Amino acid sequence: MSTPAILTVDDDPNVSRAVARDLRRHYGENYRVVRASSGSEALDALRELKLRGQQVAVLLADYRMPQMNGIEFLESAMDLYPRARRVLLTAYADTDAAINAINLVDLDHYLLKPWNPPEEHLYPVVDDLLQSWLATPDAATAELRVVGHRWSAHSYKIRDFLARNLVPFRWYVADDPEGARLLAAAGLTADDVPLVVTAEGKTLVQPNEAELAGNIGLTTTPAADFYDVIVVGAGPAGLGSAVYAASEGLRTVLVERRATGGQAGQSSRIENYLGFPDGVSGAQLTERARRQALKFGAELLSAREVTLLETCGSARVVHFADGSRIAAHAVVLATGVSYRMLDVPGCADLTGRGVYYGSAATEAPGCQDQDVYIVGGANSAGQAAVYFSRYASRVHMLIRGEDLRRSMSRYLIDQIEAIENITVHPYTQVKEGGGDDHLEHLTLVDTRTGEETRVDASWLFIFIGAEPGTDWLDGVLARDEHGFVLTGPDLLSGGKRPTGWRLDRDPYHLEASVPGVFAAGDVRSDSVKRVASAVGEGAMAISLVHRYLEGQ
Ligand SMILES: Cc1cc2nc3c(=O)[nH]c(=O)nc-3n(C[C@H](O)[C@H](O)[C@H](O)COP(=O)(O)OP(=O)(O)OC[C@H]3O[C@@H](n4cnc5c(N)ncnc54)[C@H](O)[C@@H]3O)c2cc1C
Repeated sequence: MSTPAILTVDDDPNVSRAVARDLRRHYGENYRVVRASSGSEALDALRELKLRGQQVAVLLADYRMPQMNGIEFLESAMDLYPRARRVLLTAYADTDAAINAINLVDLDHYLLKPWNPPEEHLYPVVDDLLQSWLATPDAATAELRVVGHRWSAHSYKIRDFLARNLVPFRWYVADDPEGARLLAAAGLTADDVPLVVTAEGKTLVQPNEAELAGNIGLTTTPAADFYDVIVVGAGPAGLGSAVYAASEGLRTVLVERRATGGQAGQSSRIENYLGFPDGVSGAQLTERARRQALKFGAELLSAREVTLLETCGSARVVHFADGSRIAAHAVVLATGVSYRMLDVPGCADLTGRGVYYGSAATEAPGCQDQDVYIVGGANSAGQAAVYFSRYASRVHMLIRGEDLRRSMSRYLIDQIEAIENITVHPYTQVKEGGGDDHLEHLTLVDTRTGEETRVDASWLFIFIGAEPGTDWLDGVLARDEHGFVLTGPDLLSGGKRPTGWRLDRDPYHLEASVPGVFAAGDVRSDSVKRVASAVGEGAMAISLVHRYLEGQ
């Protein structure tokens, strides 16, 4: 693989030369240092690097440049190299601008000028950023290639898994010339897809997620068999728990069955999370949290599903789908919720082949200039409608009620109303879907009149409420009638503690019906179902874990 680049841009030639010199001196052996004297020159350089398939690890931009300032440059650069680490060089007087940029361009660091001596002010910062960049799968697997069929559910699952784990890859349809060449090189035919070719040239034929994870640099095997705390689920609640637990010195393992970020990772723009006045993509927010958790020493296991929870004396034991297990003093369940399936004829068979649950961002380019149908009227459906409206010729939102007011936040309704190619269809439900190898048509019904309309449709995205998927906790933890985990005061019925509870105290606020097991975020009965509250509960669960451990 070619040498990754560090790009620096400053309109003052003396400063620009000095930064480049300092960077070359320290990093020249392993990185190519690219220097530009304006934002537009730097963007041209980035475009060229992109076309040549080269990687960019760090961008350092001066804040005060004429025409395009450093923040504007970094914002545009994010479109080309979203995971390059971003540094703004500022004078002391511009500190406020730099702090604002932390939200606007997801700034990793701002560096006050002058940075002399570089050994003290520049290199430690860049070292840190390079280290975190190198730890992303991006650095190791930029050449990952996937060959599959356009309408194959398995091919979709693999692309979705890679995208959600922020692993860049090239996608080839099996009968593309390059797709066919890769299949031939692997001695396979189009019947054998999906095929994954790793950066090292290893071929994986129809891999499952665990196999895939293990081959793209994600950790799937625990380093120990006993921890202080096991956190199950790496959505906002689990990430919140892992960051606080690890930073407070607990030996922490975070277990995730699919991809870090959970539901929030699917959100194209979270606008109500504290501290991000311009909104933040869920992937960006949760990727930062993942790095933060790893930085504090939490271990993250990917593509591992927890299927059983057991109590063995004071240990809490967690079993994986493959029969292996790990144990800890305490467990935080942060398993969130999953979309409810749309139970109408024809749709189940077409899942992953035109019918998708959640926003399936990998599919957006495929929807270019076509009609997209979205079922649901809550915020998640609204965000998806806004997102897909950039690609589709028209987005049709099918909702059960009269309008969006009862189910969606005002800011999203305003956005939707302002977008010309989104149409909201009130009182409308899907009656059935059909197609040969993929979705080709839908029958919609007007629930007021019963009138049915058949439409040509290749894209249906479903957002119809969610369920906790906690059947595996049956008989282990007390849950409410919808399967959400009961905690704290909700466990006390008529002032009586839950069955089997032997401690001489009531369950702590987020503690489940087994002492030392806590629930945080959407999986908890009566929780708020927001990113901020999930993160807050994740953090709070750890303070209760400490209290629990002290009482042991
Ligand atoms: C498209 C979309 C947009 C949204 N937008 C907003 C918004 O703008 N603002 C806002 O506040 N909220 C928003 N929400 C809601 C918000 O994302 C959720 O409230 C939040 O993610 C809940 O966090 P959580 O960690 O409790 O659960 P989740 O995010 O659901 O994460 C749970 C994780 O646990 C994993 N898991 C589940 N079971 C197991 C198991 N047995 N073993 C291992 N891992 C397991 C799952 O794979 C998942 O990654 C949105 C939701 C969606 C779907």
